[in-house]
Amino acid sequence: MVAPTPNSPSPRTVVTLILPGPDCRRSPTRYRYRVRFRNPFMHQPGCVMTWDVLGGRDSYQIAAERTTDERLEWHCTCPDAVYRSARQPHHRCKHVQGLLAWLHQRETKPLAATSSHNG
Ligand SMILES: [Zn+2]
Repeated sequence: MVAPTPNSPSPRTVVTLILPGPDCRRSPTRYRYRVRFRNPFMHQPGCVMTWDVLGGRDSYQIAAERTTDERLEWHCTCPDAVYRSARQPHHRCKHVQGLLAWLHQRETKPLAATSSHNG
């Protein structure tokens, strides 16, 4: 049994990120990410974590999947991810890119307060 990493987002974590919006001008738009599921055995193959993404044209879901060779693969239900990943297997949509940037920032600055604010 492997414990979750201490710095992994908790199941109630809500993150707000500013990303290019869904309109033609890609206006900066506020997107909310909410952890829906976090596997307590994050280092084993399978679904590690899922997030709900709200604020765009529609709501989407992101899933992080650990492969048997211990890589993390990211999936998003948005049209960009669905259609382009068929042609470009390593393509990452803006939702996944934004989340990865936030997670990376969180790892390098664990005390940065960027989540769970009360309005
Ligand atoms: Zn997406």
